[in-house]
Amino acid sequence: MTIPLLILLLIVAAIVLMLIPLKGKKHELALPERHIDERDTMFSRNEIKPGEKRFEDYYSMRPANRANDDVFRSRPGLLGYDAKYYNRFAFASAEASFEAVEAFFPYREKGKRQKAKDKSRGEACFASDTDDELSKFLKHWAIKMGAHSAGIAEMRDYHYYTYGGRKERYGKEVNNDHKYGIAITVEMDHELISTGPQAPAVMESAQQYLKSGMIATQLVLTLRNLGYEATTHIDANYDVICPLVARDAGLGEIGRMGLLMTPKLGPRVRIAVVTTDAPLLCDKPGYDNTVIDFCMICKKCARVCPSSSIPYGGRESHPGGFRWQINQESCFTYWCQAGTDCGRCMAVCPYSHKSNLIHNIIRWGIRNNFIFRRLAVKFDDLFYGSRPDPGRMPEWIMEDYE
Ligand code: SF4
Ligand code: SF4
Repeated sequence: MTIPLLILLLIVAAIVLMLIPLKGKKHELALPERHIDERDTMFSRNEIKPGEKRFEDYYSMRPANRANDDVFRSRPGLLGYDAKYYNRFAFASAEASFEAVEAFFPYREKGKRQKAKDKSRGEACFASDTDDELSKFLKHWAIKMGAHSAGIAEMRDYHYYTYGGRKERYGKEVNNDHKYGIAITVEMDHELISTGPQAPAVMESAQQYLKSGMIATQLVLTLRNLGYEATTHIDANYDVICPLVARDAGLGEIGRMGLLMTPKLGPRVRIAVVTTDAPLLCDKPGYDNTVIDFCMICKKCARVCPSSSIPYGGRESHPGGFRWQINQESCFTYWCQAGTDCGRCMAVCPYSHKSNLIHNIIRWGIRNNFIFRRLAVKFDDLFYGSRPDPGRMPEWIMEDYE
Protein backbone atom coordinates (compact mmCIF):
# COMPACT_ATOMS: atom_id res chain seq x y z
CA MET A 1 0.00 0.00 0.00
CA THR A 2 1.43 3.41 -0.96
CA ILE A 3 1.98 6.11 1.67
CA PRO A 4 -0.45 8.64 0.08
CA LEU A 5 -3.16 5.94 0.08
CA LEU A 6 -2.46 5.17 3.73
CA ILE A 7 -2.71 8.85 4.66
CA LEU A 8 -5.97 9.12 2.70
CA LEU A 9 -7.40 6.11 4.54
CA LEU A 10 -6.34 7.61 7.87
CA ILE A 11 -8.06 10.90 7.03
CA VAL A 12 -11.27 9.10 5.96
CA ALA A 13 -11.20 7.01 9.17
CA ALA A 14 -10.72 10.20 11.22
CA ILE A 15 -13.69 11.88 9.51
CA VAL A 16 -15.94 8.89 10.18
CA LEU A 17 -14.76 8.75 13.80
CA MET A 18 -15.35 12.45 14.28
CA LEU A 19 -19.05 12.01 13.42
CA ILE A 20 -19.68 9.48 16.21
CA PRO A 21 -20.65 11.24 19.45
CA LEU A 22 -18.36 9.89 22.21
CA LYS A 23 -17.89 12.41 24.99
CA GLY A 24 -15.21 10.58 27.03
CA LYS A 25 -14.17 10.95 30.66
CA LYS A 26 -15.76 13.70 32.75
CA HIS A 27 -13.17 15.95 34.38
CA GLU A 28 -13.69 17.42 37.83
CA LEU A 29 -15.06 20.93 38.21
CA ALA A 30 -14.16 23.02 41.27
CA LEU A 31 -15.02 26.68 41.62
CA PRO A 32 -12.37 28.96 43.11
CA GLU A 33 -12.48 30.99 46.31
CA ARG A 34 -11.96 34.71 46.32
CA HIS A 35 -8.28 34.98 47.08
CA ILE A 36 -6.29 36.95 44.50
CA ASP A 37 -4.77 40.18 45.76
CA GLU A 38 -3.95 42.26 42.67
CA ARG A 39 -0.80 43.53 44.42
CA ASP A 40 0.64 40.02 43.91
CA THR A 41 0.24 40.13 40.12
CA MET A 42 3.37 40.79 38.12
CA PHE A 43 2.03 44.00 36.53
CA SER A 44 1.49 45.44 39.97
CA ARG A 45 4.90 44.28 41.25
CA ASN A 46 6.45 45.83 38.13
CA GLU A 47 4.75 49.15 38.89
CA ILE A 48 6.14 49.64 42.40
CA LYS A 49 9.59 51.27 42.36
CA PRO A 50 12.48 51.11 44.85
CA GLY A 51 12.40 54.09 47.19
CA GLU A 52 8.59 54.29 47.22
CA LYS A 53 6.58 53.54 50.35
CA ARG A 54 4.53 50.97 48.39
CA PHE A 55 7.73 49.15 47.53
CA GLU A 56 8.83 48.87 51.18
CA ASP A 57 5.29 47.94 52.30
CA TYR A 58 4.89 45.25 49.66
CA TYR A 59 8.13 43.43 50.40
CA SER A 60 7.50 43.63 54.17
CA MET A 61 4.21 41.89 53.45
CA ARG A 62 5.71 39.38 50.95
CA PRO A 63 9.44 39.08 51.67
CA ALA A 64 9.68 35.81 49.69
CA ASN A 65 8.91 37.66 46.43
CA ARG A 66 11.80 40.10 46.70
CA ALA A 67 14.62 37.94 45.29
CA ASN A 68 12.71 36.93 42.18
CA ASP A 69 11.46 40.45 41.56
CA ASP A 70 15.00 41.81 41.71
CA VAL A 71 15.76 39.48 38.79
CA PHE A 72 13.03 40.84 36.50
CA ARG A 73 13.99 44.41 37.53
CA SER A 74 17.53 43.74 36.34
CA ARG A 75 16.22 42.97 32.82
CA PRO A 76 15.51 45.60 30.12
CA GLY A 77 11.76 45.45 30.81
CA LEU A 78 8.61 45.45 28.71
CA LEU A 79 9.12 47.56 25.56
CA GLY A 80 12.65 48.26 26.82
CA TYR A 81 15.24 49.69 24.44
CA ASP A 82 17.81 46.96 25.20
CA ALA A 83 15.30 44.12 25.08
CA LYS A 84 16.01 41.07 22.96
CA TYR A 85 13.21 41.70 20.45
CA TYR A 86 13.43 45.48 20.36
CA ASN A 87 11.89 46.86 17.18
CA ARG A 88 11.59 50.61 16.84
CA PHE A 89 8.31 50.71 14.93
CA ALA A 90 6.50 47.92 16.75
CA PHE A 91 7.49 49.10 20.24
CA ALA A 92 6.52 52.70 19.42
CA SER A 93 3.15 51.46 18.18
CA ALA A 94 2.56 49.24 21.23
CA GLU A 95 3.40 52.14 23.54
CA ALA A 96 0.99 54.34 21.55
CA SER A 97 -1.85 51.85 22.08
CA PHE A 98 -1.19 51.73 25.84
CA GLU A 99 -1.15 55.55 25.90
CA ALA A 100 -4.34 55.79 23.86
CA VAL A 101 -6.28 53.39 26.10
CA GLU A 102 -5.61 55.82 28.98
CA ALA A 103 -8.08 58.18 27.30
CA PHE A 104 -10.81 55.81 28.50
CA PHE A 105 -9.70 55.69 32.14
CA PRO A 106 -11.72 58.74 33.29
CA TYR A 107 -14.92 56.94 32.23
CA ARG A 108 -14.30 53.78 34.23
CA GLU A 109 -15.52 54.80 37.68
CA LYS A 110 -18.58 53.08 39.02
CA GLY A 111 -20.15 56.49 39.73
CA LYS A 112 -23.83 57.10 39.94
CA ARG A 113 -26.20 56.57 37.11
CA GLN A 114 -26.50 59.58 34.86
CA LYS A 115 -29.48 61.85 35.07
CA ALA A 116 -31.86 60.90 32.29
CA LYS A 117 -31.10 63.06 29.28
CA ASP A 118 -34.69 62.80 28.05
CA LYS A 119 -37.82 61.07 29.20
CA SER A 120 -37.72 58.31 26.62
CA ARG A 121 -34.40 56.87 27.75
CA GLY A 122 -34.36 57.88 31.39
CA GLU A 123 -36.37 56.63 34.35
CA ALA A 124 -39.22 55.44 32.12
CA CYS A 125 -36.80 53.22 30.26
CA PHE A 126 -35.22 52.08 33.53
CA ALA A 127 -38.58 50.92 34.80
CA SER A 128 -39.61 49.13 31.65
CA ASP A 129 -36.43 47.39 30.48
CA THR A 130 -36.70 43.65 30.43
CA ASP A 131 -33.65 41.51 31.12
CA ASP A 132 -33.95 39.96 27.72
CA GLU A 133 -34.16 42.96 25.40
CA LEU A 134 -31.43 44.98 27.11
CA SER A 135 -29.12 41.94 27.25
CA LYS A 136 -29.65 41.21 23.57
CA PHE A 137 -29.08 44.83 22.64
CA LEU A 138 -25.79 45.12 24.57
CA LYS A 139 -24.35 41.87 23.23
CA HIS A 140 -25.33 42.63 19.63
CA TRP A 141 -23.97 46.17 19.85
CA ALA A 142 -20.66 44.85 21.23
CA ILE A 143 -20.35 42.52 18.23
CA LYS A 144 -21.24 45.31 15.80
CA MET A 145 -18.51 47.44 17.39
CA GLY A 146 -15.96 44.72 16.62
CA ALA A 147 -16.09 42.24 19.51
CA HIS A 148 -15.64 38.59 18.60
CA SER A 149 -18.04 37.39 21.32
CA ALA A 150 -20.02 38.77 24.22
CA GLY A 151 -21.77 37.12 27.15
CA ILE A 152 -23.29 37.90 30.54
CA ALA A 153 -22.42 36.36 33.91
CA GLU A 154 -23.91 36.74 37.34
CA MET A 155 -21.05 38.27 39.34
CA ARG A 156 -19.66 36.13 42.15
CA ASP A 157 -17.23 36.82 44.94
CA TYR A 158 -14.38 34.91 43.24
CA HIS A 159 -14.59 37.12 40.14
CA TYR A 160 -13.09 40.01 42.12
CA TYR A 161 -9.59 40.77 43.38
CA THR A 162 -9.46 41.19 47.14
CA TYR A 163 -7.34 44.38 46.93
CA GLY A 164 -6.44 46.61 44.01
CA GLY A 165 -2.82 46.69 42.86
CA ARG A 166 -2.45 49.29 40.12
CA LYS A 167 -2.15 53.06 40.22
CA GLU A 168 -4.57 54.85 42.60
CA ARG A 169 -6.42 51.60 43.36
CA TYR A 170 -3.29 50.20 45.04
CA GLY A 171 -4.06 48.66 48.45
CA LYS A 172 -7.76 49.59 48.37
CA GLU A 173 -10.23 46.84 49.14
CA VAL A 174 -12.25 45.92 46.06
CA ASN A 175 -15.85 46.69 46.73
CA ASN A 176 -18.24 46.26 43.87
CA ASP A 177 -21.86 45.24 44.32
CA HIS A 178 -22.81 45.11 40.67
CA LYS A 179 -24.88 42.05 40.04
CA TYR A 180 -23.93 41.36 36.41
CA GLY A 181 -20.81 41.31 34.28
CA ILE A 182 -20.76 41.65 30.50
CA ALA A 183 -17.62 40.01 29.14
CA ILE A 184 -16.40 40.72 25.62
CA THR A 185 -13.58 39.17 23.64
CA VAL A 186 -11.75 40.71 20.70
CA GLU A 187 -9.71 38.71 18.21
CA MET A 188 -5.93 39.05 18.04
CA ASP A 189 -4.56 38.91 14.50
CA HIS A 190 -3.28 35.45 13.65
CA GLU A 191 -0.33 36.59 11.52
CA LEU A 192 1.00 39.04 14.12
CA ILE A 193 0.47 36.78 17.13
CA SER A 194 2.16 33.86 15.38
CA THR A 195 5.44 35.87 15.41
CA GLY A 196 5.55 35.78 19.24
CA PRO A 197 7.79 36.32 21.16
CA GLN A 198 8.94 38.84 18.54
CA ALA A 199 7.79 42.45 18.51
CA PRO A 200 4.66 42.24 16.30
CA ALA A 201 2.99 40.12 19.00
CA VAL A 202 3.13 42.89 21.61
CA MET A 203 2.06 45.46 19.03
CA GLU A 204 -1.09 43.43 18.32
CA SER A 205 -1.69 42.64 21.95
CA ALA A 206 -1.59 46.34 22.93
CA GLN A 207 -3.84 47.25 20.01
CA GLN A 208 -6.48 44.78 21.19
CA TYR A 209 -6.33 46.16 24.76
CA LEU A 210 -7.21 49.47 23.14
CA LYS A 211 -10.01 48.06 21.02
CA SER A 212 -11.58 46.10 23.88
CA GLY A 213 -11.25 49.21 26.09
CA MET A 214 -13.12 51.28 23.52
CA ILE A 215 -15.99 48.77 23.25
CA ALA A 216 -16.29 48.38 27.02
CA THR A 217 -16.31 52.15 27.51
CA GLN A 218 -19.03 52.58 24.90
CA LEU A 219 -21.17 49.96 26.69
CA VAL A 220 -20.63 51.64 30.06
CA LEU A 221 -21.65 55.06 28.77
CA THR A 222 -24.68 53.56 27.03
CA LEU A 223 -25.77 51.89 30.27
CA ARG A 224 -25.30 55.11 32.22
CA ASN A 225 -27.34 57.02 29.64
CA LEU A 226 -30.09 54.47 30.21
CA GLY A 227 -30.01 55.22 33.93
CA TYR A 228 -27.83 52.38 35.29
CA GLU A 229 -24.54 52.19 37.15
CA ALA A 230 -21.70 50.61 35.22
CA THR A 231 -17.91 50.24 35.46
CA THR A 232 -15.32 49.25 32.87
CA HIS A 233 -12.60 46.71 33.63
CA ILE A 234 -10.01 47.41 30.96
CA ASP A 235 -6.23 47.51 30.62
CA ALA A 236 -4.53 48.28 33.98
CA ASN A 237 -7.92 48.98 35.58
CA TYR A 238 -9.42 45.67 36.57
CA ASP A 239 -11.36 44.90 39.73
CA VAL A 240 -12.18 41.55 38.20
CA ILE A 241 -10.30 38.53 36.93
CA CYS A 242 -11.45 38.68 33.32
CA PRO A 243 -11.02 35.01 32.24
CA LEU A 244 -13.20 33.83 35.14
CA VAL A 245 -16.00 36.28 34.29
CA ALA A 246 -15.73 35.38 30.60
CA ARG A 247 -15.86 31.64 31.39
CA ASP A 248 -18.96 32.14 33.54
CA ALA A 249 -20.49 34.30 30.79
CA GLY A 250 -20.29 31.30 28.46
CA LEU A 251 -17.42 32.50 26.27
CA GLY A 252 -15.03 29.57 26.80
CA GLU A 253 -13.12 27.39 29.25
CA ILE A 254 -9.79 27.93 31.05
CA GLY A 255 -7.02 25.78 29.57
CA ARG A 256 -3.53 24.62 30.49
CA MET A 257 -1.90 28.01 29.93
CA GLY A 258 -4.42 29.63 32.30
CA LEU A 259 -6.10 31.65 29.55
CA LEU A 260 -9.66 31.62 28.28
CA MET A 261 -10.02 29.12 25.42
CA THR A 262 -12.81 30.33 23.15
CA PRO A 263 -14.52 27.80 20.84
CA LYS A 264 -13.46 29.48 17.56
CA LEU A 265 -10.22 31.36 18.35
CA GLY A 266 -8.91 29.47 21.37
CA PRO A 267 -6.76 31.76 23.55
CA ARG A 268 -6.13 34.22 20.67
CA VAL A 269 -8.36 36.91 22.25
CA ARG A 270 -8.21 39.82 24.67
CA ILE A 271 -11.00 40.26 27.20
CA ALA A 272 -12.68 43.29 28.76
CA VAL A 273 -15.54 43.33 31.25
CA VAL A 274 -18.31 45.76 32.18
CA THR A 275 -20.04 45.34 35.53
CA THR A 276 -23.46 46.89 36.08
CA ASP A 277 -26.60 47.01 38.21
CA ALA A 278 -28.79 46.82 35.08
CA PRO A 279 -31.21 43.87 35.05
CA LEU A 280 -29.67 41.38 32.62
CA LEU A 281 -30.19 37.81 31.53
CA CYS A 282 -27.20 35.53 32.20
CA ASP A 283 -25.67 33.10 29.73
CA LYS A 284 -24.83 29.51 30.57
CA PRO A 285 -21.25 29.18 31.93
CA GLY A 286 -18.68 27.85 29.46
CA TYR A 287 -17.49 24.80 31.45
CA ASP A 288 -16.19 22.53 28.71
CA ASN A 289 -14.97 19.10 29.55
CA THR A 290 -13.62 18.61 26.02
CA VAL A 291 -11.16 21.53 26.34
CA ILE A 292 -9.83 20.12 29.61
CA ASP A 293 -9.52 16.69 28.02
CA PHE A 294 -7.70 18.08 24.97
CA CYS A 295 -5.27 20.06 27.16
CA MET A 296 -4.56 16.91 29.19
CA ILE A 297 -3.08 15.25 26.09
CA CYS A 298 -1.78 18.16 24.02
CA LYS A 299 0.83 20.03 26.16
CA LYS A 300 2.18 21.90 23.13
CA CYS A 301 2.21 25.22 25.02
CA ALA A 302 4.29 23.66 27.81
CA ARG A 303 6.75 22.26 25.24
CA VAL A 304 7.43 25.57 23.51
CA CYS A 305 7.39 27.93 26.50
CA PRO A 306 10.85 29.56 26.53
CA SER A 307 10.76 29.97 30.32
CA SER A 308 9.26 26.55 31.17
CA SER A 309 6.44 28.31 33.02
CA ILE A 310 3.59 26.01 31.95
CA PRO A 311 3.07 22.73 33.84
CA TYR A 312 3.12 19.38 32.03
CA GLY A 313 1.06 17.46 34.59
CA GLY A 314 -2.64 17.35 35.41
CA ARG A 315 -4.65 20.07 37.11
CA GLU A 316 -4.11 20.59 40.84
CA SER A 317 -6.03 22.13 43.72
CA HIS A 318 -5.22 25.78 44.31
CA PRO A 319 -7.19 28.47 46.12
CA GLY A 320 -7.97 29.51 42.53
CA GLY A 321 -9.84 26.22 42.01
CA PHE A 322 -8.85 22.90 40.51
CA ARG A 323 -6.76 24.15 37.59
CA TRP A 324 -3.44 24.51 35.87
CA GLN A 325 -1.32 27.24 37.37
CA ILE A 326 1.49 28.76 35.33
CA ASN A 327 4.58 30.21 37.01
CA GLN A 328 3.82 33.91 36.65
CA GLU A 329 7.24 34.95 37.97
CA SER A 330 9.31 33.07 35.38
CA CYS A 331 6.89 34.03 32.58
CA PHE A 332 7.11 37.75 33.43
CA THR A 333 10.88 37.64 33.87
CA TYR A 334 11.08 36.29 30.33
CA TRP A 335 8.85 39.14 29.10
CA CYS A 336 11.24 41.64 30.67
CA GLN A 337 14.11 40.02 28.79
CA ALA A 338 12.22 39.78 25.48
CA GLY A 339 10.63 43.24 25.79
CA THR A 340 7.33 41.76 24.58
CA ASP A 341 4.51 39.83 26.19
CA CYS A 342 5.79 36.75 24.34
CA GLY A 343 2.55 34.89 23.50
CA ARG A 344 4.45 31.84 22.23
CA CYS A 345 1.98 29.57 24.05
CA MET A 346 -0.97 31.31 22.48
CA ALA A 347 0.59 31.21 19.01
CA VAL A 348 1.14 27.44 18.91
CA CYS A 349 -2.11 26.33 20.59
CA PRO A 350 -4.12 24.11 18.21
CA TYR A 351 -7.25 26.06 19.20
CA SER A 352 -5.64 29.30 17.95
CA HIS A 353 -5.69 28.35 14.27
CA LYS A 354 -7.59 30.67 11.96
CA SER A 355 -11.34 30.38 12.12
CA ASN A 356 -12.12 28.77 8.73
CA LEU A 357 -14.19 25.84 7.44
CA ILE A 358 -11.57 23.10 7.94
CA HIS A 359 -10.43 24.26 11.38
CA ASN A 360 -14.03 24.75 12.52
CA ILE A 361 -14.97 21.22 11.40
CA ILE A 362 -11.96 19.86 13.33
CA ARG A 363 -12.96 21.89 16.40
CA TRP A 364 -16.44 20.40 16.14
CA GLY A 365 -14.95 16.89 15.95
CA ILE A 366 -12.78 17.60 19.01
CA ARG A 367 -15.92 18.46 20.96
CA ASN A 368 -17.85 15.47 19.63
CA ASN A 369 -15.53 12.48 19.99
CA PHE A 370 -12.80 11.80 22.54
CA ILE A 371 -10.88 9.39 20.26
CA PHE A 372 -10.84 11.97 17.47
CA ARG A 373 -9.46 14.44 20.05
CA ARG A 374 -6.39 12.22 20.45
CA LEU A 375 -5.99 11.92 16.68
CA ALA A 376 -6.34 15.69 16.29
CA VAL A 377 -3.36 16.24 18.64
CA LYS A 378 -1.26 13.95 16.42
CA PHE A 379 -2.47 15.59 13.21
CA ASP A 380 -1.69 19.04 14.60
CA ASP A 381 1.88 17.94 15.31
CA LEU A 382 2.12 16.40 11.84
CA PHE A 383 0.87 19.48 9.96
CA TYR A 384 2.17 22.33 12.14
CA GLY A 385 5.05 20.69 14.01
CA SER A 386 5.36 19.50 17.57
CA ARG A 387 7.46 22.61 18.42
CA PRO A 388 6.60 25.08 15.67
CA ASP A 389 9.01 27.94 14.98
CA PRO A 390 7.77 31.51 15.45
CA GLY A 391 6.13 32.97 12.33
CA ARG A 392 8.12 35.33 10.10
CA MET A 393 7.82 39.04 10.87
CA PRO A 394 5.80 40.82 8.15
CA GLU A 395 8.13 42.85 5.96
CA TRP A 396 6.36 46.13 6.62
CA ILE A 397 7.33 45.91 10.30
CA MET A 398 11.02 45.27 9.60
CA GLU A 399 13.09 48.41 9.73
CA ASP A 400 15.56 47.39 7.06
CA TYR A 401 13.30 46.26 4.24
CA GLU A 402 13.63 48.12 0.94
S1 SF4 B 1 -1.45 24.33 23.51
FE1 SF4 B 1 -2.54 22.44 23.93
S2 SF4 B 1 -2.31 22.12 26.13
FE2 SF4 B 1 -1.78 24.23 25.72
S3 SF4 B 1 -3.71 25.36 26.07
FE3 SF4 B 1 -3.59 24.87 23.87
S4 SF4 B 1 -4.71 22.94 23.66
FE4 SF4 B 1 -4.23 23.21 25.84
S1 SF4 C 1 3.75 33.98 27.46
FE1 SF4 C 1 5.67 32.96 26.81
S2 SF4 C 1 6.88 32.78 28.68
FE2 SF4 C 1 4.76 33.16 29.32
S3 SF4 C 1 3.81 31.16 29.60
FE3 SF4 C 1 3.39 31.75 27.48
S4 SF4 C 1 5.08 30.86 26.29
FE4 SF4 C 1 5.72 30.87 28.44
